[in-house]
Amino acid sequence: MLVSAKEMLDKAKAGHYAVGQFNINNLEWTKAILQTAQELNSPVILGVSEGAGKYMAGYKTVVGMVNGMLEELNITVPVALHLDHGGYDACYKCIEAGFSSIMFDGSHYPIEENVAKTKELVAAAHAKGLSIEAEVGAIGGEEDGVIGMGECADPKECKMVADLGVDFLAAGIGNIHGKYPANWKGLSFETLDAIQQLTGDLPLVLHGGTGIPADMIKKAISLGVSKINVNTECQLAFAAATRKYIEEGKDQEGKGYDPRKLLAPGTQAIKDTVKEKMEMFGSVGKA
Ligand SMILES: [Zn+2]
Repeated sequence: MLVSAKEMLDKAKAGHYAVGQFNINNLEWTKAILQTAQELNSPVILGVSEGAGKYMAGYKTVVGMVNGMLEELNITVPVALHLDHGGYDACYKCIEAGFSSIMFDGSHYPIEENVAKTKELVAAAHAKGLSIEAEVGAIGGEEDGVIGMGECADPKECKMVADLGVDFLAAGIGNIHGKYPANWKGLSFETLDAIQQLTGDLPLVLHGGTGIPADMIKKAISLGVSKINVNTECQLAFAAATRKYIEEGKDQEGKGYDPRKLLAPGTQAIKDTVKEKMEMFGSVGKA
Protein backbone atom coordinates (compact mmCIF):
# COMPACT_ATOMS: atom_id res chain seq x y z
CA MET A 1 0.00 0.00 0.00
CA LEU A 2 1.28 3.46 -0.87
CA VAL A 3 2.19 5.68 2.07
CA SER A 4 2.63 9.42 2.39
CA ALA A 5 6.25 10.56 2.36
CA LYS A 6 5.96 12.42 5.67
CA GLU A 7 6.93 9.68 8.09
CA MET A 8 9.83 8.32 6.02
CA LEU A 9 11.28 11.83 5.63
CA ASP A 10 10.83 12.80 9.28
CA LYS A 11 12.72 9.61 10.17
CA ALA A 12 15.42 10.41 7.60
CA LYS A 13 15.88 13.92 8.97
CA ALA A 14 16.18 12.60 12.54
CA GLY A 15 18.52 9.81 11.41
CA HIS A 16 20.74 12.03 9.23
CA TYR A 17 20.22 10.26 5.92
CA ALA A 18 18.16 11.01 2.82
CA VAL A 19 15.48 9.13 0.89
CA GLY A 20 15.80 9.15 -2.91
CA GLN A 21 13.03 10.28 -5.20
CA PHE A 22 13.48 8.45 -8.47
CA ASN A 23 11.34 9.63 -11.38
CA ILE A 24 9.51 6.99 -13.39
CA ASN A 25 8.71 6.92 -17.11
CA ASN A 26 7.26 3.49 -17.79
CA LEU A 27 6.82 -0.02 -16.46
CA GLU A 28 10.52 -0.97 -16.64
CA TRP A 29 11.53 2.13 -14.69
CA THR A 30 8.96 1.53 -11.99
CA LYS A 31 9.76 -2.16 -11.59
CA ALA A 32 13.53 -1.53 -11.47
CA ILE A 33 13.20 1.09 -8.73
CA LEU A 34 10.71 -0.88 -6.62
CA GLN A 35 12.73 -4.10 -6.81
CA THR A 36 15.94 -2.32 -5.86
CA ALA A 37 14.29 -0.60 -2.89
CA GLN A 38 12.95 -3.97 -1.71
CA GLU A 39 16.32 -5.72 -2.16
CA LEU A 40 18.08 -2.99 -0.17
CA ASN A 41 15.30 -2.63 2.41
CA SER A 42 15.11 1.09 1.69
CA PRO A 43 12.15 3.48 1.70
CA VAL A 44 11.61 5.07 -1.72
CA ILE A 45 9.69 7.86 -3.43
CA LEU A 46 8.53 7.40 -7.02
CA GLY A 47 8.41 10.78 -8.75
CA VAL A 48 6.02 11.52 -11.62
CA SER A 49 6.28 14.78 -13.54
CA GLU A 50 3.22 16.14 -15.36
CA GLY A 51 4.86 15.21 -18.67
CA ALA A 52 5.62 11.66 -17.54
CA GLY A 53 2.08 11.35 -16.21
CA LYS A 54 0.70 12.23 -19.65
CA TYR A 55 3.18 9.89 -21.32
CA MET A 56 2.04 6.98 -19.14
CA ALA A 57 -1.59 7.59 -20.18
CA GLY A 58 -2.63 9.60 -17.15
CA TYR A 59 -2.32 9.64 -13.37
CA LYS A 60 -4.93 6.92 -12.83
CA THR A 61 -2.94 4.56 -15.06
CA VAL A 62 0.17 5.29 -13.01
CA VAL A 63 -1.65 4.64 -9.73
CA GLY A 64 -3.02 1.35 -11.09
CA MET A 65 0.40 0.21 -12.30
CA VAL A 66 2.20 1.09 -9.07
CA ASN A 67 -0.43 -0.41 -6.78
CA GLY A 68 -0.45 -3.57 -8.91
CA MET A 69 3.31 -3.93 -8.61
CA LEU A 70 3.34 -3.37 -4.85
CA GLU A 71 1.03 -6.35 -4.54
CA GLU A 72 2.35 -8.65 -7.28
CA LEU A 73 6.03 -8.07 -6.46
CA ASN A 74 5.45 -8.29 -2.68
CA ILE A 75 6.93 -4.86 -2.03
CA THR A 76 6.85 -4.27 1.72
CA VAL A 77 9.20 -1.26 2.09
CA PRO A 78 7.53 2.17 2.41
CA VAL A 79 6.74 3.56 -1.07
CA ALA A 80 5.32 7.02 -1.79
CA LEU A 81 3.93 8.01 -5.19
CA HIS A 82 4.70 11.69 -5.59
CA LEU A 83 3.76 14.32 -8.17
CA ASP A 84 6.96 16.15 -9.14
CA HIS A 85 6.76 19.91 -9.88
CA GLY A 86 2.99 19.91 -10.08
CA GLY A 87 0.97 22.87 -11.19
CA TYR A 88 -2.18 23.85 -9.30
CA ASP A 89 -4.57 21.73 -11.44
CA ALA A 90 -2.26 18.70 -11.57
CA CYS A 91 -2.10 18.67 -7.76
CA TYR A 92 -5.88 18.26 -7.52
CA LYS A 93 -5.87 15.60 -10.26
CA CYS A 94 -3.26 13.55 -8.39
CA ILE A 95 -5.09 13.86 -5.07
CA GLU A 96 -8.17 12.45 -6.83
CA ALA A 97 -6.25 9.75 -8.73
CA GLY A 98 -4.76 8.13 -5.60
CA PHE A 99 -1.23 9.52 -5.35
CA SER A 100 0.14 9.53 -1.80
CA SER A 101 2.17 12.75 -2.07
CA ILE A 102 2.29 15.90 -4.20
CA MET A 103 4.67 18.73 -4.89
CA PHE A 104 3.17 22.10 -5.64
CA ASP A 105 5.67 24.17 -7.59
CA GLY A 106 4.50 27.73 -7.13
CA SER A 107 8.02 29.11 -7.37
CA HIS A 108 7.19 31.05 -10.55
CA TYR A 109 4.37 32.97 -8.80
CA PRO A 110 5.03 36.09 -6.74
CA ILE A 111 5.62 34.93 -3.14
CA GLU A 112 2.16 36.11 -1.96
CA GLU A 113 0.41 34.00 -4.58
CA ASN A 114 2.71 31.03 -3.96
CA VAL A 115 1.77 31.28 -0.26
CA ALA A 116 -1.99 31.49 -0.90
CA LYS A 117 -2.07 28.54 -3.31
CA THR A 118 0.28 26.43 -1.17
CA LYS A 119 -1.91 27.01 1.88
CA GLU A 120 -5.01 25.85 0.04
CA LEU A 121 -3.27 22.74 -1.32
CA VAL A 122 -1.81 21.83 2.09
CA ALA A 123 -5.37 21.61 3.43
CA ALA A 124 -6.59 19.61 0.41
CA ALA A 125 -3.67 17.15 0.56
CA HIS A 126 -3.78 16.64 4.32
CA ALA A 127 -7.54 16.08 4.26
CA LYS A 128 -6.85 12.95 2.20
CA GLY A 129 -3.70 11.82 4.02
CA LEU A 130 -1.20 12.93 1.37
CA SER A 131 2.08 14.67 2.10
CA ILE A 132 2.93 17.89 0.28
CA GLU A 133 6.18 19.52 -0.85
CA ALA A 134 6.50 23.19 -1.77
CA GLU A 135 9.24 25.08 -3.56
CA VAL A 136 10.83 28.44 -2.88
CA GLY A 137 13.34 29.98 -5.26
CA ALA A 138 13.29 28.49 -8.75
CA ILE A 139 15.68 25.65 -9.45
CA GLY A 140 17.59 26.40 -12.64
CA GLY A 141 18.36 24.16 -15.54
CA GLU A 142 18.39 23.68 -19.25
CA GLU A 143 14.70 24.42 -19.67
CA ASP A 144 15.39 28.09 -19.03
CA GLY A 145 17.09 28.29 -22.40
CA VAL A 146 20.35 29.37 -20.86
CA ILE A 147 21.96 26.97 -18.39
CA GLY A 148 21.92 29.04 -15.21
CA MET A 149 23.92 28.57 -12.06
CA GLY A 150 20.74 27.94 -10.07
CA GLU A 151 19.06 30.47 -7.82
CA CYS A 152 19.43 30.63 -4.08
CA ALA A 153 16.18 30.86 -2.11
CA ASP A 154 15.58 33.59 0.44
CA PRO A 155 15.65 31.85 3.87
CA LYS A 156 12.89 34.14 5.20
CA GLU A 157 10.61 33.16 2.32
CA CYS A 158 11.43 29.52 3.08
CA LYS A 159 10.35 30.04 6.70
CA MET A 160 7.12 31.70 5.52
CA VAL A 161 6.23 28.72 3.30
CA ALA A 162 7.38 26.17 5.91
CA ASP A 163 4.94 27.73 8.40
CA LEU A 164 2.02 26.92 6.06
CA GLY A 165 2.24 23.30 7.16
CA VAL A 166 4.05 21.74 4.19
CA ASP A 167 5.66 18.40 5.01
CA PHE A 168 8.97 19.06 3.23
CA LEU A 169 10.44 21.97 1.36
CA ALA A 170 12.49 22.33 -1.82
CA ALA A 171 14.72 25.38 -1.78
CA GLY A 172 17.14 26.48 -4.47
CA ILE A 173 20.72 26.36 -3.18
CA GLY A 174 22.55 26.68 -6.50
CA ASN A 175 21.32 23.28 -7.74
CA ILE A 176 19.95 22.81 -11.26
CA HIS A 177 18.04 20.17 -13.20
CA GLY A 178 19.83 18.10 -15.80
CA LYS A 179 23.57 17.93 -16.38
CA TYR A 180 25.74 20.45 -14.54
CA PRO A 181 27.90 22.79 -16.65
CA ALA A 182 31.68 22.51 -16.26
CA ASN A 183 31.89 25.95 -14.65
CA TRP A 184 29.21 25.25 -12.01
CA LYS A 185 30.09 26.86 -8.70
CA GLY A 186 28.67 24.10 -6.47
CA LEU A 187 25.96 24.11 -3.82
CA SER A 188 25.58 27.09 -1.52
CA PHE A 189 25.96 25.52 1.93
CA GLU A 190 25.70 28.97 3.45
CA THR A 191 22.15 29.31 2.07
CA LEU A 192 21.26 25.76 3.12
CA ASP A 193 22.51 26.35 6.65
CA ALA A 194 20.57 29.64 6.93
CA ILE A 195 17.38 27.91 5.70
CA GLN A 196 17.72 25.02 8.13
CA GLN A 197 18.29 27.38 11.05
CA LEU A 198 14.92 29.00 10.35
CA THR A 199 12.96 25.89 9.37
CA GLY A 200 14.23 23.54 12.11
CA ASP A 201 13.01 19.94 11.87
CA LEU A 202 11.37 20.33 8.47
CA PRO A 203 12.95 17.92 5.94
CA LEU A 204 14.58 19.81 3.05
CA VAL A 205 14.64 18.59 -0.54
CA LEU A 206 17.50 18.73 -3.01
CA HIS A 207 16.37 18.75 -6.65
CA GLY A 208 18.72 18.08 -9.55
CA GLY A 209 20.70 15.32 -7.82
CA THR A 210 22.41 14.19 -11.04
CA GLY A 211 26.13 14.85 -11.07
CA ILE A 212 26.46 16.52 -7.67
CA PRO A 213 29.70 15.09 -6.19
CA ALA A 214 29.25 12.62 -3.31
CA ASP A 215 31.02 14.83 -0.77
CA MET A 216 28.60 17.70 -1.50
CA ILE A 217 25.64 15.32 -1.20
CA LYS A 218 26.87 14.14 2.19
CA LYS A 219 27.42 17.68 3.42
CA ALA A 220 23.93 18.67 2.22
CA ILE A 221 22.45 15.73 4.17
CA SER A 222 24.35 16.83 7.30
CA LEU A 223 22.74 20.27 6.87
CA GLY A 224 19.16 18.99 6.77
CA VAL A 225 18.53 17.62 3.27
CA SER A 226 16.37 14.49 3.69
CA LYS A 227 15.05 13.95 0.15
CA ILE A 228 17.15 13.96 -3.00
CA ASN A 229 15.62 13.87 -6.47
CA VAL A 230 17.28 11.72 -9.12
CA ASN A 231 15.97 11.75 -12.67
CA THR A 232 18.51 12.50 -15.42
CA GLU A 233 21.06 10.02 -14.09
CA CYS A 234 18.73 7.05 -14.59
CA GLN A 235 17.89 8.31 -18.07
CA LEU A 236 21.57 8.56 -19.04
CA ALA A 237 22.31 5.08 -17.64
CA PHE A 238 19.31 3.56 -19.44
CA ALA A 239 20.23 5.20 -22.76
CA ALA A 240 23.90 4.18 -22.58
CA ALA A 241 23.08 0.52 -21.84
CA THR A 242 20.45 0.39 -24.60
CA ARG A 243 22.85 2.03 -27.09
CA LYS A 244 25.53 -0.54 -26.25
CA TYR A 245 23.12 -3.45 -26.80
CA ILE A 246 22.12 -2.17 -30.24
CA GLU A 247 25.59 -1.08 -31.31
CA GLU A 248 26.86 -4.57 -30.48
CA GLY A 249 24.17 -5.91 -32.83
CA LYS A 250 22.51 -7.96 -30.08
CA ASP A 251 19.03 -7.01 -31.29
CA GLN A 252 19.83 -8.92 -34.48
CA GLU A 253 21.05 -12.08 -32.78
CA GLY A 254 18.36 -14.75 -32.23
CA LYS A 255 15.32 -13.17 -30.62
CA GLY A 256 17.31 -10.18 -29.38
CA TYR A 257 14.61 -7.92 -30.83
CA ASP A 258 12.14 -9.12 -28.16
CA PRO A 259 11.39 -5.98 -26.11
CA ARG A 260 11.91 -7.97 -22.92
CA LYS A 261 15.50 -8.63 -24.05
CA LEU A 262 16.04 -5.26 -25.72
CA LEU A 263 15.07 -3.31 -22.60
CA ALA A 264 16.79 -5.61 -20.09
CA PRO A 265 20.27 -3.98 -20.08
CA GLY A 266 18.75 -0.50 -19.65
CA THR A 267 16.54 -1.76 -16.84
CA GLN A 268 19.56 -3.28 -15.10
CA ALA A 269 21.42 0.04 -15.53
CA ILE A 270 18.57 1.84 -13.73
CA LYS A 271 18.79 -0.72 -10.89
CA ASP A 272 22.55 -0.17 -10.59
CA THR A 273 22.09 3.62 -10.50
CA VAL A 274 19.34 3.43 -7.88
CA LYS A 275 21.48 1.12 -5.72
CA GLU A 276 24.48 3.44 -5.93
CA LYS A 277 22.30 6.42 -4.92
CA MET A 278 20.59 4.63 -2.03
CA GLU A 279 24.00 3.65 -0.67
CA MET A 280 25.26 7.23 -1.04
CA PHE A 281 22.15 8.72 0.61
CA GLY A 282 22.33 6.26 3.53
CA SER A 283 18.78 4.89 3.15
CA VAL A 284 19.80 1.22 2.82
CA GLY A 285 18.30 -0.85 5.64
CA LYS A 286 16.11 2.03 6.84
CA ALA A 287 12.74 0.68 5.69
ZN1 LIG B 1 12.97 19.37 -9.53
